[in-house]
Parts: sequence; structure tokens; C-alpha cells
Amino acid sequence: MQYLDTGPSRAGWHRLANVLKCPRYYAFNKEREWEPTDALVRGTLMHVALAHHYANLQCEQQDEEPSYLSPEDAVARCAVEAGHPLYDKWWRKVIEVYHQYTAMYLTPSWHILAVEKEVETQVLDPHMDHTERAYDYTARIDLIVEHHDKVYFVDHKTSFAILHRTHNKHTLSGQFLGQQMIGREMYGDQFGGVILNLIGWDDRKPVSSFKRKVLPYAEKSVARFPETVRLAERMIAQFDGREAFDWPGSHQEHACQTTYGACRFFETCKRGGHYE
Ligand code: SF4
Repeated sequence: MQYLDTGPSRAGWHRLANVLKCPRYYAFNKEREWEPTDALVRGTLMHVALAHHYANLQCEQQDEEPSYLSPEDAVARCAVEAGHPLYDKWWRKVIEVYHQYTAMYLTPSWHILAVEKEVETQVLDPHMDHTERAYDYTARIDLIVEHHDKVYFVDHKTSFAILHRTHNKHTLSGQFLGQQMIGREMYGDQFGGVILNLIGWDDRKPVSSFKRKVLPYAEKSVARFPETVRLAERMIAQFDGREAFDWPGSHQEHACQTTYGACRFFETCKRGGHYE
């Protein structure tokens, strides 16, 4: 039985988002592995469950035997392979929430086209010397489905609660502008957009809440998104090779002191030098 990779894509938005937030933050973060958080582990395990659920459903829709691990076995395997206490803490509860999800969506309304598919494009960057660079830009799509003759990219989002702002805040996220850019390149007018498959998982409640919403299409921002990719890639190329502290910092409150607390490099930026 197959086990699906649900990890990040090769050249996706996350790297560019970091450099646009603060070039020095990007440089300090590069090639570092951070301890996972509860939210990250819950989201990762839920992705694993849903990836195997929909991969086996696709087999069924194609009149084939399921060839992937069951969602329950895949989640358990992911926890064992991670070998981290937070995975031990959450994997059984994720299976419970997954069962609530399947009870909510008993009848599949989507025709599954692909699961955990990496899609890609190239963003061209013409230079004044008449040479041209091409940046790879990729995105891993959780699920590609057909529904009422339209094709949608589906993104599973696990959060504490589902509020109006839960889906609205993603409208201008580079992650989804990039997905919509690639979706339109791949499917033209048949592309219906990005569906957020929201899972509102509040530990204080016995049952989670679920909602599916098509993300509003910010057409003009999607059209200008290649400019954002070009800017971020040029910044990376310009400072590449320097020590992290020698990259410029953004030095603005929204980046250095956020509502979630201080940037993890705040003290290093104050004194200069290496992050310990
Ligand atoms: S403290 Fe501010 S300037 Fe320093 S890395 Fe963080 S965001 Fe950038």
C-alpha cells in the first residue's frame, strides 16, 4: 500500500513570503529546522488523513482497488516516522476529527482528478542587458477536483474556529494568488478557483465544525503576482552569499513585534552577529 508525501513543494510561496516580510528574517531562517508546534502537527496529520482518504476515493471512482494506506494507518505511520512527542500527543485525536469529517461529508460531491499534486510554472524576468531569467514557481495542491464542469484546487485548512475572517484573510495570500495563477494557466476558463476546505477544531468542543468556501478571486492581484515573484527572487539573488546579519532588515513593528510576540531573531538584531 502506498504512502503519500504531503510535504511542501520545491519552489513555493513560503520562501518568497519570508524574504518579502524581512530579508534578514529569510536569511536567518534559511536551512534551519524549527521545533514543530501543536498547530503545525495537527495540520500536518490532518493533511495526511485527507490525502489518503481522497487518494483511495479516486481509485474507487476509477473502478480500481484502493492502493493507498487507510487514513488511520497513514496518520499512525506519520506519527511513528516523526518520532516527536507532539505527534504522539495528537495522532489519535486527528483520527477522531477525520471520522467526524467523513460523517459530515458522507456522499462525495467531487470527482477527484489528483491528490497532493505539485504543479509548476515559470516566471520570466527580462533584464536590461536583454538576457532573460526564468524562476521556477511551484505549489503542492492538496486536491484537484471537478465539480459541475469546473476544476477547483482544494486546500485543507485546520484552524481553531471557522470565522468569516478565517477564509477572507486568505484572499490576498501569495499562496493562493500563486495557485490561481497556475490554475488558470492549466485549465483556462474551466478553472473555478480555490476551495478552502475548512476544519474548525476547538478542543473545548466535542465535535469539530466544517465548511467549504470558494476563495474570492482577486483577479487584478493574480495578474500582477508574477511581479511579486520577480521582486522576491531578485532580493534573494542580490544578497545571496552574505552572512545572515548582513542582509537588510525590514525594521518595522509589524515584522519585528507582531501580535503573536517578538520575531524570534529580535534579540539577535539588537546585538548583531549570529543567531544562537
Ligand atoms: S527582528 Fe525585525 S529586522 Fe530582525 S529579523 Fe526579525 S523582522 Fe527582521
